[in-house]
Amino acid sequence: MVAAVSSPVPKSADAVVIEATDLRRHYTVRLGLLRGTATVRAVDGISFTLRSGKTLAVVGESGSGKSTLARLVTLIEPPTGGTLRLMGQDPITASPVERRELRKAVQMVFQDPYGSLNPRRKVGAILEEPLIINAKKMTAAERRDRGLAMLAAVGLRPEHYVRYPHMFSGGQRQRIAIARALMLNPRLVIADEPVSALDISIQAQVLNLMMDLQERFNLAYLFISHDLSVVQHIADDVMVMYLGKPVEHGGKEAVFTRPRHPYTMALLAATPRVDPSQRINPQIVKGELPSPLSPPKGCAFHTRCPFAKERCKAEVPVMRPVDGRLAACHFAEEIAQ
Ligand code: ATP
Ligand code: SF4
Repeated sequence: MVAAVSSPVPKSADAVVIEATDLRRHYTVRLGLLRGTATVRAVDGISFTLRSGKTLAVVGESGSGKSTLARLVTLIEPPTGGTLRLMGQDPITASPVERRELRKAVQMVFQDPYGSLNPRRKVGAILEEPLIINAKKMTAAERRDRGLAMLAAVGLRPEHYVRYPHMFSGGQRQRIAIARALMLNPRLVIADEPVSALDISIQAQVLNLMMDLQERFNLAYLFISHDLSVVQHIADDVMVMYLGKPVEHGGKEAVFTRPRHPYTMALLAATPRVDPSQRINPQIVKGELPSPLSPPKGCAFHTRCPFAKERCKAEVPVMRPVDGRLAACHFAEEIAQ
């Protein structure tokens, strides 16, 4: 029996956890003394819905805007456009109390299990810290009960409670980080490349654990990764991003077996769809990612797209329904043939 922590926001089986509509985060950057400023459109018009118990994988090369999206959803930064609703609430108009509850309901697991745990604190103290801050009415014994229960939930033993992070392997540390993320009974976990730093043999174990915990606690995952073979394992839906914009978004099955955007096709071609232990380092799409300070006009992918035509240089493709998912390509149907 897991010691109780009141759920920050009422749970229902398939409640909408994130609703993002045309979400944007633009940054103004200084170019130098005489060159003025430029705008980086790190997140540039993203719309999606994520429900309890489901995983949306956000995939793209470095610089495509994945981490910026994570910062918006964890309320670290406000959007500069569009709307974001978490558990049905708009964090911008929420009261301070409601915002605090939303922050508790959204927890994060980071890529680096070495850097994300305080090396000077024992596992028990690391796990109990969120309760000390956010569940002030809990007694020390109740905090310990909950910590031990979460430790067991991630497959570690009671004696691990009094050990320091350096005494664990990378996979075990990531289990501790997951346990900590679950201490406040969240609705949503943002997992930013949670297995990228782990040995391939350990990755599947941590992913399986995450899937078990999702089912047990009805968690929603926003799972950020550059690695499609990891995503294939855990995702329900996949959103592929390029220079801040979604280019393809749909159910895992459709996106993996019948990709309809050339960028997704290229990412898939570079990722062997086999057992992770057989995987080679994926070589991403040919050619450099254009500078986000001056992205190509028209379709931002046209400088690297083998199917590009004149129209692609002038006209921005919008996300539209194509064969059971959304894709942003003028020629998606023709290319599929
Ligand atoms: P990575 O996998 O390397 O973390 P990413 O897909 O998560 O990449 P982001 O880190 O979200 O991408 O960055 C998207 C773009 O926004 C990049 O061009 C980045 O340089 C830019 N960017 C991010 N944060 C800022 C900021 N605070 N100020 C200016 N530009 C930023
Ligand atoms: Fe390629 Fe044109 Fe489609 Fe863009 S719109 S992905 S450049 S074919």
